[in-house]
Amino acid sequence: MDFLPLFFNLKGRQALLVGGGDVALRKARLLKRAGVSLTVVSHAVVDELRLMLRDHDDQIIIGEYHPSLLDSKCLVIAATDDNALHERIHFDALDKNVPVNVVDTPALCTFIFPAIVDRSPIVIGITSGGESPVLARLLRARLETLIPSGYSRLGGLAARFRSQVKARFTSLNDRRRFWENVLEGQIAEKVFSGRNEEAEAQLKTAIEQGDTGHRSGEVYLVGAGPGDPELLTFKALRLMQQADVVFYDNLVSKEVLDLCRRDADLVYVGKRRDNHAVPQEGINQLLVEHAKKGKRVVRLKGGDPFIFGRGGEELEELKAHGIPFQVVPGITAASACSTYAGIPLTHRGYAQSVKFVTGQLKNRQQALEYAELVHPNQTVVFYMGLHTLPVLVQGLLDHGKPSATPIAIVSKGTAADQRVLTGTLEDIVDKQADAKLEAPALIIVGEVVDLHEQLAWFGQQEQSNVTHALGMLKTTAEK
Ligand code: SAH
Repeated sequence: MDFLPLFFNLKGRQALLVGGGDVALRKARLLKRAGVSLTVVSHAVVDELRLMLRDHDDQIIIGEYHPSLLDSKCLVIAATDDNALHERIHFDALDKNVPVNVVDTPALCTFIFPAIVDRSPIVIGITSGGESPVLARLLRARLETLIPSGYSRLGGLAARFRSQVKARFTSLNDRRRFWENVLEGQIAEKVFSGRNEEAEAQLKTAIEQGDTGHRSGEVYLVGAGPGDPELLTFKALRLMQQADVVFYDNLVSKEVLDLCRRDADLVYVGKRRDNHAVPQEGINQLLVEHAKKGKRVVRLKGGDPFIFGRGGEELEELKAHGIPFQVVPGITAASACSTYAGIPLTHRGYAQSVKFVTGQLKNRQQALEYAELVHPNQTVVFYMGLHTLPVLVQGLLDHGKPSATPIAIVSKGTAADQRVLTGTLEDIVDKQADAKLEAPALIIVGEVVDLHEQLAWFGQQEQSNVTHALGMLKTTAEK
């Protein structure tokens, strides 16, 4: 090990920063976060740094560095563009036993700054010993995604009750088990859901009773997004990784399902149109039953659970049985399909509002509020409308929507085999009869659809676009 990671308490201690530019500013920001009192010496100081150093014991010296400035400093950082000066600072600091960091010059450093994941009081420092700062940063980004921001609050809670727990449990083993249950269980999840008071009350009871109680079950209603696993949220992934059992439906892609905890039971409760694998009441019951057995249940739904997902109904049932739950939003099909097809749902020139409408008509005669859907300057998105396409198109036309209105069908949005078919209200039904795009598919109606040709960027390009792009490349190359 080339460097020993240590965590220093520098609150109120004096540090010296030589340099007043942007690099110095970055270091200053970090040191101020740790409560350091800073002396900055430089010929010039950027405004932001000047503004930052307003504590009464901060100091800015406009002028030359001098070794005497190192006296009674807990550390020094050199951040100028003068290499000779950097060397002097390095040797002066060695003489005076002051830890020194010269930016971007590991050979002149006696300490280095790690990449930091800050969930104070939990702090993680990562270093490559100056060998590959980029690698350290990449690792940091990974950790950032894994550790919920609520860890700070959880750490704070644990800190406040630390001595009480110590007094209550005399054996080290009991204490460890107690904290493991708290920090991985319902109390932690309450903190992550912003229910700090409840979490605190439950922790107090747990301390009084001498244990955290048996692990009680919970349900996480999680939006799995449109299919591309990269579109999951960090929170979805974290909860999927904790699941004992996962109930999923047919819109959840295999790639997403693969990210659930290895040992979790995966149960398909999918619904296809007119062919319910498990009826809704059955799903509600399954969730309740499993949670009552103390399981962590993930209910994984395509897109967003609150947009045509019947998520609300499932929660009402849980609420009636007193089962705790969390809901995680997902990227809904309208958002995903439009972005992956290069069709902005709103655009200053074309549409100032957007409507999400179900295209599923309980009996085919049931009318939608078409009068609401034909306004100009708005985009209308139909979910579940592929099989009713001719009815929807006719309804819009009958209510005065111009037949030249652009319309797109986005099939299997965000998947590798995503397809986009564009046309007008006049010809889309015939075009779809030929193209036979498959479900799941989303229908987008409005002028914004015209932008597809220009803005499409994902997956299979239509022939005309490809030729267009090649043509442009050629012209650029010829210039
Ligand atoms: N809760 C989901 C919607 C469920 S309704 C969400 O927020 O996205 C099911 C309908 O969503 C499908 O009929 C289809 O219209 C649309 N849909 C869902 N995923 C899709 C995808 N990947 N591509 C195209 N349409 C999709």
